[in-house]
Amino acid sequence: MRNFLVCCIGLLLAAPFSQGQAPKKLSSSDIYHSLQKLNFLGTALYIAAHPDDENTRLISYLSNEVKAKTAYLSLTRGDGGQNLIGPELRELLGVLRTQELLAARRIDGGEQYFTRANDFGYSKHPNETLRVWDKETVLGDVVWVIRNLKPDVIINRFDHRTPGSTHGHHTSSAMLSVEAFDLTNDAKAYPEQLKSTSVWQPKRVFFNTSWWFYGSQENFAKADKSNMLNFDIGVYYPMKGLSNNEIASMASSQHLCQGFGRLTTRGSQNEYIELIKGDLPTDKSNVFDGIDTSWSRIQGGEAIGKILYAIEADFDFVDPTQHLPQLVEAYKLLQQVQDTHWKKIKSKELEDIIAAVSGLYLEASAKEAFANPAGKLKVGVEVLNRSAADIILKSISLSANNTLDSVVRLEENKKMVVELDLEILEDTRYTSPYWLSEKGSLGTYMVKDQHLVGQAETPRAFHADFELEFGGYTIHMKRPVVYRHSKPDKGELYQPFEILPEVTARVMDKVIIFADSKSKEIPVIVKAGKNDLSGNIALDVPVDWKVSPERIDFSIGQKGDEQTVIFTVEPPLGESEGHIRPQVSINGDMYVKELVEINYDHVPKQSILLPSETKVVRLNIQKSGEHIGYIVGAGDEVPESLEQIGYKVHTIDPTSIQEGTLEKYDAIVVGIRAYNVVPELKFKQRYLLDYVKEGGNLIVQYNTAGRWSKQFENIAPYPLKLSRGRVTDENSEVEILAKRHALVNFPNPITEKDFDGWVQERGLYFPEEWDPQFTPVLSMQDEGESPKTGSLLVAPHGKGNYIYTGLSFFRELPAGVSGAYKLFANMISLGKEKVETESAVKG
Ligand SMILES: [Zn+2]
Repeated sequence: MRNFLVCCIGLLLAAPFSQGQAPKKLSSSDIYHSLQKLNFLGTALYIAAHPDDENTRLISYLSNEVKAKTAYLSLTRGDGGQNLIGPELRELLGVLRTQELLAARRIDGGEQYFTRANDFGYSKHPNETLRVWDKETVLGDVVWVIRNLKPDVIINRFDHRTPGSTHGHHTSSAMLSVEAFDLTNDAKAYPEQLKSTSVWQPKRVFFNTSWWFYGSQENFAKADKSNMLNFDIGVYYPMKGLSNNEIASMASSQHLCQGFGRLTTRGSQNEYIELIKGDLPTDKSNVFDGIDTSWSRIQGGEAIGKILYAIEADFDFVDPTQHLPQLVEAYKLLQQVQDTHWKKIKSKELEDIIAAVSGLYLEASAKEAFANPAGKLKVGVEVLNRSAADIILKSISLSANNTLDSVVRLEENKKMVVELDLEILEDTRYTSPYWLSEKGSLGTYMVKDQHLVGQAETPRAFHADFELEFGGYTIHMKRPVVYRHSKPDKGELYQPFEILPEVTARVMDKVIIFADSKSKEIPVIVKAGKNDLSGNIALDVPVDWKVSPERIDFSIGQKGDEQTVIFTVEPPLGESEGHIRPQVSINGDMYVKELVEINYDHVPKQSILLPSETKVVRLNIQKSGEHIGYIVGAGDEVPESLEQIGYKVHTIDPTSIQEGTLEKYDAIVVGIRAYNVVPELKFKQRYLLDYVKEGGNLIVQYNTAGRWSKQFENIAPYPLKLSRGRVTDENSEVEILAKRHALVNFPNPITEKDFDGWVQERGLYFPEEWDPQFTPVLSMQDEGESPKTGSLLVAPHGKGNYIYTGLSFFRELPAGVSGAYKLFANMISLGKEKVETESAVKG
């Protein structure tokens, strides 16, 4: 946590708010760096499985020192992980992590790509990963990205030869990369791709090894390195005032939702890559050795190189504008080149350099943050030439219908501001993340448009096209339409201009539990996407459920404003589950999406449209006890879930725990990883154990095994040793070992059926050794492994009970898994069975 805060501060210095959409403003040394990159015609692709897998030191080195076009292909968007900074999980976490990767690339100079693979959760072996992912689809996407990007070298983060030694996604990423290396040049492989791209053979594929993969530095020192390249990635860039490893640390510190904020480092550092396929370079410090990365690489490139190398050799940092005529000359020659791949890439780079040396400022900013299809709004356009160069603006167009023709000579430093109308066609697509617009499978996103596959984010809906003339030669420059505004406490902000529906609606909770047959009032929030909106809303419920009223009329005056309407939903008498879905009707058109916004300072604001639905579960659940004390750990939604079934949950501030403060609770539940992240618990544990001794009921959820277990041995009243043991198959069979224990009998009888419908996994970090005082209640195992019996352990202590569980209640309860609710209610009710039996006898 401390590291996290330190880096937050570092981040603020390094990357001010929402830089994502702000135009890059290049200094002379930035222009020179761009020119060096322009003069390097070579591409490197780094491949791994998740956001944060990538070695930012190597990506930064290739991009900033070697000057190569460098990209990271992350097979997944990291949907399956945890979020340290906010509530986003699953697909929404994938959206946040996508943006964090883009933020990292803006710092280290790389580009970002993805496949359609979904990070469905931990898998122990690539066999499982590739089964869930739909291997052919994901392999096809790797092939597609390689064919489009045409990398000379590919570098894998992981070793394709060691399945089972790391996360199955990791090994799979390397296996697919190696397999793709042999397919990309084969026209028979994925032939339909060749309608819009061409075959390509990368020259080499490497594995980015290190001592870590050898178990120790000593082992690595002894290893045969004849097949390895190595180079010093600790180089210093005087023009940036930064070491390569400093840039790398700043880039990986963008992964804030994973707690990757870290200190920067500097100084010499060796990086090793092992050749997997292709020819071994003679110069073992140069990945591009033997590959022509000069302008001579392309036909007609020599003449271009002659001009551009001369500018690089004699660059004027004081007055870069003087290079403009030669740059335009090179641009002209580039347009005649046949090689469409390099022509496209280098034209864009050259356009940016031409704009930068002329001090040209071009911006198109919508007057509103978003608009609807078939809507209309004003866009402010700013054009400014901050040099003495002779530049003529010929036209500005926002779309085929919205063009301003005006031949204007741009006078030095005289700003031109115009307002243009932007008419949005009725069939314009929403700007929501493209991979979430249709329902995919557990392992793969559904994306039908092949041109979107691989792309990091949905392409921006509108661009302004500026037709400019430089010394009589016309060049078109494009800028995305953005939304620029300011906030008193944050300064100038840029965010993407978005296309969103006229109306969205959502039910506040994603899962609603009905613990008995009583009806519940369900608030539904309607949000206006335009002014003067009126219509009506209905709530669709499962067949055996009832809802009233049938429809509710609403009207909202202001775009962006919300109105809450209340439906009463009545569950059936018996157990049942299904979904409720708000359906909004406006002038006969039906709207069924909800809008989720993700808004953090380190990434651009995201608006995501999802099918609006909430799971409803009618449970027959019994429970004892009422007041629960909850000690929050790394953050989970267990308290909200317990409230749904009628418990009163009180958050306990760990610093306030002392003698006599805990007795009032029927049970105390410790949140996930609390002993890992709440340092005070170390000093308060004795009060918690005293509470148990006096008859209390303490339930401790999973903590990660590691350093803490040594420094903090009294997590339980008796010896208990955690391990990294987990059962990842959520459908694995569960055997009840302690059939007569109250935990599986009171007040809810638990059977094997209660383990149906679990999500993502069974549990994690199960203890592997425990004192005989503990009773193991359940047994479960992943395929091919021996049974694990540490998922739920219970021990009497004094007059009370202590429970330790690695079962993933933090995933199951928010997902509305009924068996998990019943088992949790039993854990809370433990100890009450005696009281109830006694009073029954007395009565
Ligand atoms: Zn990973």
